[in-house]
Amino acid sequence: MSNLILEGVGMTSLRTRERLVQRLMEQGVSDLKVLDVIRNTPRHLFLDEALSHRAYEDSALPIGFGQTLSQPYIVARMTEVLLGAAGSLKRVLEVGTGSGYQTTVLAQLVEQVYSVERIKPLQDKARQRLRQLGLHNVMLSHADGGFGWPDKGPFDGILSTAAPRFVPEDLKQQLAPNGVLVIPVGDREQSLHLILRVGDTDEFVTKILEPVRFVPLLSGTTR
Ligand code: SAH
Repeated sequence: MSNLILEGVGMTSLRTRERLVQRLMEQGVSDLKVLDVIRNTPRHLFLDEALSHRAYEDSALPIGFGQTLSQPYIVARMTEVLLGAAGSLKRVLEVGTGSGYQTTVLAQLVEQVYSVERIKPLQDKARQRLRQLGLHNVMLSHADGGFGWPDKGPFDGILSTAAPRFVPEDLKQQLAPNGVLVIPVGDREQSLHLILRVGDTDEFVTKILEPVRFVPLLSGTTR
């Protein structure tokens, strides 16, 4: 787990973050560890300056290349689902680094985060922000996360922030015993899936949680 370096970030936004946390609680997010991390994470750093004043609205916001920084509610909800369903979370894989906001939230709650992004300039920016925040338990890879990160698996948890039409088999196979996969699935209509590996078997239990809206999981990489 990492603590953020917040020097020079400006505490003016702390009050707005507090309001955001209140809203998330009203929407049913109840894990206090997750709420605490949202309260402490400067979401405005993950946006271009022109948009940073909107950082604490509970909405998804553009980060370029047709991609979006997920809505705080969904970041909180997915993180809460992951934490609630898993035993210990030592190694967690994120598919879709994007801005690095969800990565930063995870890095404050689990031992080691591995995050894969297919668009190189987004990864470069995310890397800068993670460095600025002093996170030392995150590894990034420029690759197609639909194949997971085979060299680094198995993972206690996998969280995808892009939606495939069908759950990639590689992601399921890279789950450790009793590992947990949280992933939006579908095309125009998507729902959040929680997939649990049963012990060390090849059996999986799937729970469908709620309707969601994510950018699609695309194949291949871009420079
Ligand atoms: N977690 C991000 C959300 C970004 S949107 C954040 O907090 O900002 C989802 C991201 O998934 C996009 O950056 C998109 O480029 C990436 N993505 C889509 N398909 C992917 C794939 N196959 N492998 C890796 N990343 C992918």
